[in-house]
Amino acid sequence: MSLYGLAEVKPYRVLLVISDQWKDPRSFLVSGGGEFQTMVTLFKSWGIPFDILRLDQTIMDPSHFADFGGKPRYGAIIWDAFGEISDSDGTLIRDAVERLHISLVAVGNRVQQPEIQRLLGIRYKAEHMHSSHPTGDGQSFILRGLPVDLHERGPAAVAMRRVQVDLVEAHALATAAGMPQITTRELADDTRAIWIGGDVDQMLLYQPIRTALRRAITEAIGYSLVKTWTHDIVLTMDDLGNAQNSWLEHWHYPALSQDQIRRYLIEPLKAHHAVLSINTVPGFVDDEKRRIVPTWQQQFTDGFGTRQDYVSTKKGLDEGIAAGVFEIESHGWTHMQPDLSSEPGPWWGTPLDGERAEMGWYREFYDVRRNREIPAAEQKFHMEKSAEWLQQEFDIVPLEFSTGGNGVSRSPDNNTWRLAAEAGYGYYGGYLGKDLAVEGRADSNADFGGTDDVPLLLPAPPDGHDRGIAHDPAGFANVFEKYPDYQFIGLDEYIGYQHAALKSLPSGDGMKLTVDYDPHYCRALVAKPSTWDFHLSDWLRAKVKGKGIWVDGKKTSVAQDEWTAISFSPGAHHTLEVR
Ligand SMILES: [Zn+2]
Repeated sequence: MSLYGLAEVKPYRVLLVISDQWKDPRSFLVSGGGEFQTMVTLFKSWGIPFDILRLDQTIMDPSHFADFGGKPRYGAIIWDAFGEISDSDGTLIRDAVERLHISLVAVGNRVQQPEIQRLLGIRYKAEHMHSSHPTGDGQSFILRGLPVDLHERGPAAVAMRRVQVDLVEAHALATAAGMPQITTRELADDTRAIWIGGDVDQMLLYQPIRTALRRAITEAIGYSLVKTWTHDIVLTMDDLGNAQNSWLEHWHYPALSQDQIRRYLIEPLKAHHAVLSINTVPGFVDDEKRRIVPTWQQQFTDGFGTRQDYVSTKKGLDEGIAAGVFEIESHGWTHMQPDLSSEPGPWWGTPLDGERAEMGWYREFYDVRRNREIPAAEQKFHMEKSAEWLQQEFDIVPLEFSTGGNGVSRSPDNNTWRLAAEAGYGYYGGYLGKDLAVEGRADSNADFGGTDDVPLLLPAPPDGHDRGIAHDPAGFANVFEKYPDYQFIGLDEYIGYQHAALKSLPSGDGMKLTVDYDPHYCRALVAKPSTWDFHLSDWLRAKVKGKGIWVDGKKTSVAQDEWTAISFSPGAHHTLEVR
């Protein structure tokens, strides 16, 4: 029997339950890789709101699952916890699923607790190495549109761990050499218990499995409002304003001129409606004054006899910003070691073929010259000065942070990602926010970049630096021939989507979602139109068919298709209703 009414549409939020995978005891920095970091990255990139329940520090409580009024807080629990749970915890999970109708999605071998097996309708047996791939028939909602071989599009592996289960009350949607690998059980007409099996350390490296996880969440909740990034590229270019080109012999070249920037960057970008995110350096080492001075006021002939005109560079950058094709991001404050004076220096005033030729001096957030970390307070000062000086120069607060030469500090106290998040940056190869920070890749690309799940962060040809343009000016525009079917979005746009606050509200006779854009992190989506994909499961679609889809109070379409594109006009607050 179902008392299902639209008023009971599930909350658009999931609870990710883990054991001790979150290595930071302060629950802020997500690092070290593994399926936990992957799921955090995916949920931020897809736009699926989530909370994390870490069982290594928390006593499970009914209020983890129910709100003040006793209603479910989540549409689904994502179960990524291993090890035993107590009988009373088992009861809490059972009540959350069976009484509150919160669906359950478990991954990999995280199914060893008897209560989790009972809810999933499977019995865990063992796991052993095996060469088979999981294969599906594509008939189910969860696997619809996916290839038969669910290990297509991912690393080649001779074998990996295969979890073995017996079906009790579930049925299999995918198998590996005859053994169930993806299963589902219908607990009520609006509640599902889904298991996505596989080697938990590797399964999410495969595109079809990642997509199956996203679709399983839609099936579990009934709907989702998500982003995917299949044909999106974020072009990045490092180093405008840096001092290496004036002082480091093997990285020597003239700073780009306004004319070069206009002809070889702005014009091709405009012609392809593309955006370039430029990692800029607003502080310059003044060798005479022995202090940091504003980069964009420097005009001089360097020690190699090359004319350096950073004033002209700045004019070019301003022109690109005005044309809407440049985004200014932070590449640190100076691209230089904070301590340019002590042993084995000084760097100041030394000959070009002496200490000055050592690359280690030109790294800001790890002391490469002395092989030690940069202390937290020093890093923080440089991060804040970068943002402050860029704002002085361009009237833009940078949202992305990236270090010169990938020089980063990783210890808990000095961690560069955590410090950048605290300084207000929104991305550094991974999500940075006030809630948590993901230690992404330092090379400016991102985990899963260039898949359906994360845009491709592409260092702009020819070499990802202004240096490449100085040597081969025409080399940049080739990117548009190489990637003809892509759109070149800005990094600020991607940061905006990751920071969007999506929330479902109780709504009398329908469903209502609010989408709020923070004025700092999401400014690109406040200023421009934004788009999302509204995804309906088959079971909820049958219930809402024919109802109106209302965007910001206007009826724009009727619920009938699995996917509906949702377009929001510029602005900070939006609503999506089905009624
Ligand atoms: Zn650099």
